[in-house]
Parts: sequence; C-alpha cells; structure tokens
Amino acid sequence: MRSIKIYILLSILFSGFTIANAENVRVRILSTKIIKSFIFSPISGSYTIYGDGILLKDYDPTGIFQMAIEGDSIRLKTFEKNIGKFASLKMIAKETIAAFKVKSVDPASRIRTYDDNLEVSISADKSQLQVINTVDLEKYIAGVVESEAGKNSSLEYYKLQAILCRTYLLSHINRHILEGFELCDDVHCQAYLSRASEDNDLKAVLETKGLVVVDNELNLITAAFHANCGGETCNSQDVWAISTTYLKSVKDTFCLHETAATWQRTISLEDWKSYLQVKHKTPPNDSLKNDVTTSFNQQNGRAIYYVDKDLKIPLKTIRADFKLKSTFFSIQPIGDSLKFTGRGYGHGVGLCQEGAMRMAKLKYNYQDILHYYYKDVHLVDLSALNYFKQE
Ligand SMILES: [Zn+2]
Ligand SMILES: [Zn+2]
Repeated sequence: MRSIKIYILLSILFSGFTIANAENVRVRILSTKIIKSFIFSPISGSYTIYGDGILLKDYDPTGIFQMAIEGDSIRLKTFEKNIGKFASLKMIAKETIAAFKVKSVDPASRIRTYDDNLEVSISADKSQLQVINTVDLEKYIAGVVESEAGKNSSLEYYKLQAILCRTYLLSHINRHILEGFELCDDVHCQAYLSRASEDNDLKAVLETKGLVVVDNELNLITAAFHANCGGETCNSQDVWAISTTYLKSVKDTFCLHETAATWQRTISLEDWKSYLQVKHKTPPNDSLKNDVTTSFNQQNGRAIYYVDKDLKIPLKTIRADFKLKSTFFSIQPIGDSLKFTGRGYGHGVGLCQEGAMRMAKLKYNYQDILHYYYKDVHLVDLSALNYFKQE
C-alpha cells in the first residue's frame, strides 16, 4: 500500500518536476473578459511573429500591434498597415529575457505586462480571442506571488508565498488542459495579473526553487490562504466539508492589528427578519423581536452556525448571502438595526496572509511560518526525491 502511495506521489511529483525543469507553463491571460480586440507591444527584448505557424519576416514586432476577432479569423494590424487575417498568432521572444505589454481594447482595460511569449487563437465557440502567455515557470510564480501578496512585503514572506504558489501550480497543472492551456490568470486558479515588478519576488522564487509542501501521506497539500483570519483560522471541514490533516484551526495573534483585522456592517432588523423567514423558513412570529434572539456572539471564538432557538444556519451561508468579509462576526441589536461587528477577511482556512506577513517582519523564518499555519506538513525539494525511486 505504501509503495503504491509513493509511486503515485512520484508520478505527481516527477511529472511536476518535469514541468519544473521544462521551461514553460501555459497560462490564459485576460481570462475574465470576453476579448474581442487587444494590443500587444514588446517592452524589452525582441520578438518574432508567426501567423498560422509561418514566420512573418517582413514584420519585426517592435511597435504596437492590434489583434481583433473578425469572423473566424484574427485580424492583425499595426497603426499604419493591415497585415492580414490568421487563425492563430504567436509572438515568440528571441532572448531569454523579454517582456511585453498587452491592453484589451474591446472591452477596454488597463495595461498589463508579462514575460516571454504570447499565443493568440479563437475560442471554440468563435466568440472571443484566447490569449495565452507561455512563460518560464519560475517567472510565472514570481508574477503570482506579486499578484497574491501585493508589493512591499518582506523577502521571507515572498519565499513562503512562492512555495505555496508552486505547490498549488503543480497540483493543479491540468485544470484547463482540455481548453488548450494549463491555468487561468484569475483567482479560480491563481491571480496572475502581471509579471513581477519587484526584484524580491523573483529572488524569493529562485531561492526556494523546487520546494513544495506535502502532508504526512506525501501528497501535495491544498495550500489554502486568505487575507486575515481575525485571530483564529478555520478547520477545512467547517468551511468546505473536506477534512484534511493540515488545515486545522489555530489561534493567531499576529494579524490582530493589521489592515483587515476588523469590519462593521449595519443591517436593518426588518431585512434580517425577512431574510430568515424567506430563505430559512423561520415561522413568521415575533420571536426575533427581542434582543436575546437577535444577539449573536463569537467574541470567545469562532462558531460554525448562527444559532437562534429555532435556527441552525451555517455562517458561511450568511456570509455569502450578505457578502460579508468573514463568518467571524457578532451581532448586536441597536434600535431598528443590527450591528455586525466582524473580524478578519476571507474564508479563514490555512495561511493568514496578514498574520504571516507580520511574522516575517518579526523575523520568523518561512519554515516557522509555514508550520504555524499548516499542521504536520513537510517541505520537500523535488530534486531530492530521487532516492524514493529505489524503494
Ligand atoms: Zn482557472
Ligand atoms: Zn490571522
């Protein structure tokens, strides 16, 4: 049984390792928009351009190119000239260090910058352009680290985020494989809103190269994280109904004074009553009138359910319905309103980003921070796993 497990692990890890050593990962960018037209322009290095697999020799893409969907083709043009119509286009970097910018024109969006190559095709239903960044894996992770962790964090925190992003990448590499790419740039996979602009991001990635996190069974972990836990993280089974050995509730004092530590919201008593009656079928009586039944308290720790004498509603349902920042709130009636006083931001499972950033500032190393938020996990260097092969 154990050898089967290790074999499975090796299949995962070594397929991951192959990917880690292969240069590239294919990420669909601008994936949250229906892209009809966008512009491409190199910002460093030089590029060659291929239309339907054929080198377009006469066009050295140093300027600005526009690509727009036209029937079942892509129209390629510069400001001066119409180049032609193609089923697919590739902008291939000539050097190992090359970057470009893209800007969606229809619909309009902000400029984004990325490393390495770009491929453009038309979606299967012919409704939009499919824009894919084929990018060096470590550069991709650096871009994700910056998108997920923001700028100006410490190097130690970036290292941890890089390891978590790499672990996530390797365990989700086939997520979009049937659509012709590996990952999307949205939070569905991992946010990848640009190349890394901070030197520390790439440094963190390179200094942790090949490191991933596994559980006691040697499986890559689900490296869940959120902005701020409010002082206590959640068990994965309380939020997602999936129990793991490593996503366990921990008390956290590091995040208590950070940006997303607290929030407030006021909801009218009338709206609250009607919500409970319509959605949760509470009897239309006066039981919610008095303070006792409208008060709700999590001051001494997280609860899973909102408990009224007749009710047991999952807090995550209330959070989703009212778009609250977290499920970690108390309710206090004030006149015709209910005051929600909340703690933290996000689902609360796994690593608390603001707590971890604070720990890094206090000089905890990334290993300590990792083990604080994930229980019974191990850092594994993919390249050091060869000896398992002999087992
Ligand atoms: Zn995705
Ligand atoms: Zn926290």
